[in-house]
Amino acid sequence: MSEVSLDWENLGFGYIKTDFRYIAHWKDGKWDGGKLTTDNVLHISEGSTALHYGQQCFEGLKAYRCKDGSINLFRPDENAKRMQRSCQRLLMPEVPVEMFVDACKQVVKTNEKFVGPYGSGATLYLRPFLIGVGDNVGVHAAPEYIFSIFCCPVGAYFKGGMKPTNFIISEYDRAAPQGTGAAKVGGNYAASLLPGKEAKARNFGDCIYLDPKTHTKIEEVGSANFFGITKDNQFVTPLSPSILPSITKYSLLYLAEQRLGLKAIEGDVYIDKLDEFVEAGACGTAAVITPIGGIQNGDDFHVFYSETEVGPVTQKLYAELTGIQFGDVAAPEGWIVKV
Ligand SMILES: *Cc1c(COP(=O)(O)O)cnc(C)c1O
Repeated sequence: MSEVSLDWENLGFGYIKTDFRYIAHWKDGKWDGGKLTTDNVLHISEGSTALHYGQQCFEGLKAYRCKDGSINLFRPDENAKRMQRSCQRLLMPEVPVEMFVDACKQVVKTNEKFVGPYGSGATLYLRPFLIGVGDNVGVHAAPEYIFSIFCCPVGAYFKGGMKPTNFIISEYDRAAPQGTGAAKVGGNYAASLLPGKEAKARNFGDCIYLDPKTHTKIEEVGSANFFGITKDNQFVTPLSPSILPSITKYSLLYLAEQRLGLKAIEGDVYIDKLDEFVEAGACGTAAVITPIGGIQNGDDFHVFYSETEVGPVTQKLYAELTGIQFGDVAAPEGWIVKV
């Protein structure tokens, strides 16, 4: 099938209006059938809890064009399950996994011309979200909800190959120890705008948050998870109840062990022990794998592999992950859902 004419090689990560989005309404204890619409504007009550009390959550996943022209979704059932956990935390009704995955497929199918050609690096980014709506003013769970999925064509994260990025340790906390860090909710992001802006103003890619309790361990890299490779071939990623559980991260834990023969560990990454790592990276759907050049911590600047070159293990993980996503490398059972 032909694509729309976009400059696929140079697309960024921005809003582009596509033809169709999915929308379903929850009322009186149940979801309606959901439908596709061309209207990209929501008409909601001024009392919607999503607007006042942040009762909302979202997801992010991509559709990938394969060499044979078919389209892959990468582990969409995991996004569905994570959104269910976010809903539990914010007292919102869950979307059944099957309804979520089916809605993703409908959105990709009807916007197929926006899925970039194989080899361009462009993908179709899907943004599912669930918001509390309906007339309300007190601090309560909303009487009604909207679940919607829209999509935008996005470019390769790295134009002209992977490049290391530098990050800075933030003095702010992303989430409270028993807060909503593990839920993909807008409130966490509103709170991250100022720290992110300050990091970018100093020419860093983003900030890195330490654990909110002791400020001694790395938790997250802005909107991506952290991993490091030790001298003795261990893939290490932080374990904490306030980290957003990245599906990319869990996929890399599996691939590191099963495909690259590394020992994969979730554990503590102490900020004063970074010299245990010979390589480091940030991972997530949007960031894919971003190699970390160095980390600024106060006056100290720690370089991992190199500020300009990408380490060999990071390269291999990137090739394995993206190979699976674009259908060039055999996927573990259940990871790829054909649209
Ligand atoms: C979405 C998100 C990630 C990445 O998760 P993936 O499932 O890999 O896309 C990492 N950190 C935060 C804070 C996020 O919101």
